[in-house]
Amino acid sequence: MPLISMEKAERKCKAEEMDFWEAVRLWDAIEQDITTEDSWKEMEKMWQAMLDSLHSYDPNLTSGSGLVGKEGGQMQAYLEKGDTLCGDFMSKVIANALKMGCNNACMKRIVAAPTAGSCGVLPAVLVTYYEECGAPWDTMVQSLYVAAGIGQIIGSRAYLAGASGGCQAEIGAASGMAASAICHVKGGGISEIENACALALKNLLGLVCDPVAGLVEIPCVKRNVVGAMNALSSADMALAGIESKVPLDQVIDAMKEVGDDMNPNLKETGSGGLAATPWAVQVKEDLHM
Ligand code: SF4
Repeated sequence: MPLISMEKAERKCKAEEMDFWEAVRLWDAIEQDITTEDSWKEMEKMWQAMLDSLHSYDPNLTSGSGLVGKEGGQMQAYLEKGDTLCGDFMSKVIANALKMGCNNACMKRIVAAPTAGSCGVLPAVLVTYYEECGAPWDTMVQSLYVAAGIGQIIGSRAYLAGASGGCQAEIGAASGMAASAICHVKGGGISEIENACALALKNLLGLVCDPVAGLVEIPCVKRNVVGAMNALSSADMALAGIESKVPLDQVIDAMKEVGDDMNPNLKETGSGGLAATPWAVQVKEDLHM
């Protein structure tokens, strides 16, 4: 059975007394025609790749356009002064989201989750928590299954690409996936996982895709920060027992409808929103694009 509905997934998990992450691992093994052990090994490699990618950030690099690259280092230097508004943990989340967004723009190896443009959201939330709060390795790998399962439901019912549904489908989806994943790490069950994702997605509904000069740099790098911080606040709300009144499947369906109604100028064509500002038009001209 493909993973197309949170409601159905919840029913199956309850009937078979299985955690959501276990159900996703089983679906993955069936889909790939491999054992659950081999599926786990693949997911471990994915987790290791996320850690490696974040640690490979180089503050001296800039993207080919020269527009981004140093932001991760700037935030790191600022947080080390110990006087941020957001506090130590959240400031590290911000720095890590920026580092990963810059890594992608600088053509370094990243884990698309779900896309390259939104690759900073999951590591900013999960790697920061892992390194700052000391969660077990296996729990982190399990959380990637949670994220993958949520991503699959979003992809099945709506989209996972800015060109199809706007940035709500990239940063929005990544934020929902990260919210659910960190809920699992914090001991939340399937109901908290569902609510965290629904709350996160709702907060970013309608977000347009408007990359300057068509490059996945501005506003993409900094939007990873918003996705990560939204994921954490949504997860905390869900863990506090706050529910999304609209069920997750229906939130995703609304996201699809919003994406369908979105003007094509706002779907990765680089011709609307921020991409159409005079500054962005000048940048595009200067880059001879
Ligand atoms: S603005 Fe577009 S290209 Fe950039 S992260 Fe969002 S969806 Fe991806």
